[in-house]
Amino acid sequence: MGPDEIMPQLFPNRFADAVGPGAGGPARDRCGCVGHSVATRPAAVSFHGDRQDTEAAGWRHLLALIDEAVADGRTVFKPFVDLSAPERRQIVTLPPAIAKLTAVKHLVLYGTNLVRIPPEIGAMTSLEVFEPYTSHRLHWYPYELTRCAKLADSTVSTRVLYGNFKFRPPFPKLRPVTGAGEADFAALDPGVWGADAVRTCSICDGPVQGELHQVWISRRIGTDVLPFLVNACSASCVAALPEPHPGYFPTPHTGGPDIVQPAARR
Ligand SMILES: [Zn+2]
Ligand SMILES: [Zn+2]
Repeated sequence: MGPDEIMPQLFPNRFADAVGPGAGGPARDRCGCVGHSVATRPAAVSFHGDRQDTEAAGWRHLLALIDEAVADGRTVFKPFVDLSAPERRQIVTLPPAIAKLTAVKHLVLYGTNLVRIPPEIGAMTSLEVFEPYTSHRLHWYPYELTRCAKLADSTVSTRVLYGNFKFRPPFPKLRPVTGAGEADFAALDPGVWGADAVRTCSICDGPVQGELHQVWISRRIGTDVLPFLVNACSASCVAALPEPHPGYFPTPHTGGPDIVQPAARR
């Protein structure tokens, strides 16, 4: 966790070495969707619905940087430093190819325009340090991040997290169970489901086919307690989840305005 932040109106280039050059227009979009205090938190929130433009120059550049990092086996990966500001703005998620970054111990995602991180991050099994700091549109993380067993150090802007202890913004409402006849799990609306597809179970890694169970759980990983989205194949996988972190909603839950969270702590 970094210094106590307020939602900035401007983004001074405090992390020039980490975020890269600032020329060419904004590097990201503004977001205040979780509010910034008990007084300003909304009654309900929904996922950012942005879809990744896979034809964008920034996306292609990022894919090339991942290939380069896989080929040279580097242990520190900070791809956004090498992207222009317009390219950085084009990137709202990371490609599944991050699963190949198995040598990377330190992943730097400072000041990005990301709205979600894909479950493939769980394959980055060497990851020790995770820094999405000041990526103000990242309000949640995939449960698969908990597979990174060596992850010991994180730098997350906790004030933008769903359910953060400072002012307890709400979580997007999830459907507890969805049958395969009710939605095409291979072509989902990310504004509703938090992903454009769900193929594997966050818990057992088996296929998600007949039904999809979605829940939130807050757990500590690295230095921070993060809200994790779980995409599960079955009720028994949901039942196998560990206990949430003390001081957070005490069971896995489906979010929405009716969930009564513990009081905010300053
Ligand atoms: Zn937002
Ligand atoms: Zn499962």
